[in-house]
Amino acid sequence: IETTMQHGDLLISDVLEYSRRVFPEAKVITWTGEGTREASFSEIGDQAAQLANALVKLGVEQGDRVATFMWNNNEHQALYAGVPSMGAILHTLNLRLTPEQAVFIINHADDKVIFVDATVAPLLSPYLASTPNVQHVVVANGPVESLTAPDHITVHAYNDLIAGEATTYDWPKIDENTAAVMCYTSGTTGDPKGVVYSHRSIYLHSMLATTTMAMQLSNQDSMLAIVPMFHVMSWGLPYAAMMAGSTLVMPDRFLQPEPLLAMMAATKPTLAAAVPTIWQGVAAQLDAKPQDITHLREVVVGGAAVPPSMIKKFDGYGVTIIHAWGMTETSPLGSVARPPAGLTDPDEIFSYRVTQGRFPAPVKARIVGDNGEEQPWDGEARGELEVAGPWITGAYYQPEGNVTDPSKFDDGWLRTGDVATVTPNGFMTIVDRAKDIIKTGGEWISSVELENVIASNPAVVEATVIGVPDAKWDERPFVLAVVRSEADTDVDAHKAYLAERLPKWQIPERWSFVTEVPKTSVGKFDKKRVRQAYADGDYT
Ligand code: ADP
Repeated sequence: IETTMQHGDLLISDVLEYSRRVFPEAKVITWTGEGTREASFSEIGDQAAQLANALVKLGVEQGDRVATFMWNNNEHQALYAGVPSMGAILHTLNLRLTPEQAVFIINHADDKVIFVDATVAPLLSPYLASTPNVQHVVVANGPVESLTAPDHITVHAYNDLIAGEATTYDWPKIDENTAAVMCYTSGTTGDPKGVVYSHRSIYLHSMLATTTMAMQLSNQDSMLAIVPMFHVMSWGLPYAAMMAGSTLVMPDRFLQPEPLLAMMAATKPTLAAAVPTIWQGVAAQLDAKPQDITHLREVVVGGAAVPPSMIKKFDGYGVTIIHAWGMTETSPLGSVARPPAGLTDPDEIFSYRVTQGRFPAPVKARIVGDNGEEQPWDGEARGELEVAGPWITGAYYQPEGNVTDPSKFDDGWLRTGDVATVTPNGFMTIVDRAKDIIKTGGEWISSVELENVIASNPAVVEATVIGVPDAKWDERPFVLAVVRSEADTDVDAHKAYLAERLPKWQIPERWSFVTEVPKTSVGKFDKKRVRQAYADGDYT
């Protein structure tokens, strides 16, 4: 028999209109450095329609790319809502790319319009001579004079552009599989690759984000979205919040621990999301200057492995860290660590919280061994994690046709490049990125596990580990660490600490102490740069 159900395309314009009508009390709050400025979801909806009307006048058609070079703020939220709703494609540009990468990505995506925050306009200006197809740049949150543009580009002020435009727009009824947002991977391990999300994938991902399985966003919550809107759509929060009616607190450019804590004191968010290095900084600041942050019901941390010591530290502040795993290619929610029901032993509960967690129902997962065989979920067998599902990319964007390079795709599954184990009850642990595993004397060391143990030493602020060539053992671990004080640079003391916790052969001989571990554009340890610097003899 046939289903009796209606079809109904899953569209961002419907989420936008829904949020505007049903949750006018929810708002977007942007930090200004001293205080906040706010826009209700209905005002964001008005602005989204004004943007769409203005963009049509600039010649933007369905399928055109409209880029943003912006922080997390109200205006960016309005663009998130309006651009895909009108059938155009929002392309979020990472503010921390190298000039070569930025120019490559703008041209590769064929961006027609770029919206830029005035504070970062001077960064964008020099790229524009090399982006012949960009026709308009719109400067938000500051003077248009912050931007210098060549003759082929018309420069607009955001407020002038939308002024007088109607606050309604007849959103087109498009197919749910239409492209909505594009984002390039941050290139931690290679060249940036384009991922294009659809209305359908974003809609389904947003529904998942609001569930008890994932971020549990509700109308009672306010979410401090620290993860940048240029990093996998701020983990989907701008859309999930519109669906759930959660208030969003946006840090704009104020991403240092001190302003983040000032923001928290002023706005008392119930949830927050950011990569581990941000929380590392927040913890250091909290220790120097205690502040009650128990208004945070939970903080979602992912994008890189969360050291168990960090989870304990935040337990000490009365705040629960929820560990999650994902990638640009997975929209990003891939797995979330919420311990199973029925446990009472705190150690056992903790042992689940440090994993990368369980996959939600729509995310299919398997681990594949070196022999190409699927491995059992026994908590022991390792293999490359492969995932598939409605918000997992099935290809990388190429103007002449998307590509499914076999090094990244396996018979319809995305190869994550992560080596993982999965327990019989579905808890996944990322052992390491395949390229970061250290092979020493025929044995493997997980750089992540080693980092976790090193970082559990109170003398250590942050530490990363890479494998370096060794004549005898092929590879040995090298530690690049930031420590609390000069007295903590005694390598023997660190080795003694590790000797109590690790087998002898895993203890690194090579250490170097620095004031900061290099980070990628999204705040992860930049092992590519550490490797290069090591090879160049920069560490003594
Ligand atoms: P890039 O690959 O450029 O860093 P992504 O942000 O897409 O950009 O990174 C995805 C990768 O980050 C994953 O493949 C994985 O290696 C790592 N990652 C993400 N979350 C976690 C986590 N919770 N634990 C360990 N690694 C993680």
